[in-house]
Amino acid sequence: MVQKFRKKIIAGNWKMNKSVAEAEDLASGIRRALAEVADVDVVLCPPFTATKVVGDIIADTAIKLGAQNMHWEGYGAYTGEVCAAMLRDLYCHYVILGHSERRMYFHETDEVVNRKIKAALEGNLIPIVCVGETQEEREAEQTEEVVGRQLRNGLVDLSGDLKKLVIAYEPVWAIGTGLTASPQQAQDVHAFIRGVLQEVFDEDTAQSIRIQYGGSMKPANAVELLAQPDIDGGLIGGAALDARSFTEIVQAAQ
Ligand code: PEP
Repeated sequence: MVQKFRKKIIAGNWKMNKSVAEAEDLASGIRRALAEVADVDVVLCPPFTATKVVGDIIADTAIKLGAQNMHWEGYGAYTGEVCAAMLRDLYCHYVILGHSERRMYFHETDEVVNRKIKAALEGNLIPIVCVGETQEEREAEQTEEVVGRQLRNGLVDLSGDLKKLVIAYEPVWAIGTGLTASPQQAQDVHAFIRGVLQEVFDEDTAQSIRIQYGGSMKPANAVELLAQPDIDGGLIGGAALDARSFTEIVQAAQ
């Protein structure tokens, strides 16, 4: 097996937080601290309403813009939705898909996630595909079954440059709870995910795809998590809402 170098990627998922003015403040703070960072990919995913203002603030830096969701169709009568081309129009490079909150509250199935991934790739966006088990599923020792199913169903029939895909392992029980998977627990699932990626794609692709950990990652636990061989970055919720803690996590990845 050829061990590949994978550049770390830290993405902030701001969820349904921040007014336009607050987003401007946060993005400006992050820009001041991280505009020059080149050895880690940094991605900000504000709410749709702040996408334009955040994009303008980071426009001439290496920091990239992402969205938190999109529709799989290219246009049409889908009230309240946005499509890949609209996100590209605002200079988004990434889009988070299949977040557990979308699966839980908006009933997104693996099939829906698969359609969105295909549309994102066709629309020249890099999908950050979220997978992860609930507390009950972990206790019932179903973590691999659940994560394996989400990956096999979500990643079926894809084409294009699949090495640029990003997977986020986010144990649902660790999201926003203050509970974090231990570095070993996270590493075990990340290694499992890489094995599934090899089955679904091929070894070279599996070794190239970056797998982020998400679930209460903070400056205090980031170094240890990011030191694991199959943890290639973080998808950050709560700690991404503050310029200082987000910056410290990016520094931990350097
Ligand atoms: C997330 O929702 O993607 C996440 C990781 O949230 P938090 O960091 O707040 O647990």
